[in-house]
Amino acid sequence: FAGVALAVLGQPIKHSISPAMHQAALAEMAAHDARFSHWRYFRFEVAPADLAEALARLHAAGFLGLNLTVPHKVLAVELVKDVAPHAQPIGAVNTLLRTNDGWRGDNTDGHGLALGLRADLGLDLEGAPVILLGAGGAARGAAVECLRRRCASLAIVNRTPARLQALLESLAPLAGPTQVRGFAPDQLPRDLPAGAIVINATSAGLRAADPLPLDLALLPRPAGVYDMIYNPPRTPLLQLAARLGLPHANGLSMLVHQGARSLALWSGTEVPVTAMSRAALAALAP
Ligand code: NDP
Repeated sequence: FAGVALAVLGQPIKHSISPAMHQAALAEMAAHDARFSHWRYFRFEVAPADLAEALARLHAAGFLGLNLTVPHKVLAVELVKDVAPHAQPIGAVNTLLRTNDGWRGDNTDGHGLALGLRADLGLDLEGAPVILLGAGGAARGAAVECLRRRCASLAIVNRTPARLQALLESLAPLAGPTQVRGFAPDQLPRDLPAGAIVINATSAGLRAADPLPLDLALLPRPAGVYDMIYNPPRTPLLQLAARLGLPHANGLSMLVHQGARSLALWSGTEVPVTAMSRAALAALAP
């Protein structure tokens, strides 16, 4: 391929909608700037054991940028030449930028979350109380973004205490004046704030039989509920939010905005977010 190549690596990767999203953006960018008609976004199925070799080969082949998805985001931190300061506290990278001698890792998930919340629910993390569900990779990125944007307080709820504890410890140096607390889902305190932004960063809801990550009826009325899961589009948590009359949205806007941010980093130009959003919805349509 003689043009400028980008790709997403993951396992499984067949159902990734990133190629559709990025190609739609590139098509629109090419209409204004002919350079982009030579850009292509590929997808490659890569097992974790093959990631180091895949990164070396794609660098040698001249790829300009890569996205990483499940299960590579944490592993790749050890394989890149350097990690952007912004991504270091997260300990995970989803965007790689080509440098002369390797890859520079960055993370656009938090940015995607913040912009998705604003786009779908009109909510800003700045100054808001946040109740974050989960303590895995996605929750870590979300928590760092909340603290960076100076949320008013951060309550993290997770099923497994050890994972929760590890996350709380790693956040302590970043917290500044923000109160950060952790709870088990069945041991919520009475003093949780009303008007919080509830963010689901657990994988509970991916399958129809999954339990709710938290019973929203136990909380003082939140300002809104954002579920990072976008497929299925209406998780049991979002259905409950609807029944309770709470503003709610799924994670598609986060996916779109993290992708748009990656493409902006690679291209150094503005990116048509609406085209990406439209393509993402079309790719997910049954
Ligand atoms: P991880 O495997 O790192 O973490 C999973 C988290 O989910 C853990 O906190 C785990 O809790 C919790 N969990 C899993 N099953 C249950 C359950 N049945 N009940 C309660 N909690 C449960 O996954 P990630 O952090 O990488 O991803 C989490 C979700 O975020 C996924 O659904 C993913 O699709 C989504 N995501 C969306 C993005 C977007 O752009 N919209 C971007 C990134 C992720 P425990 O510690 O107790 O096991």
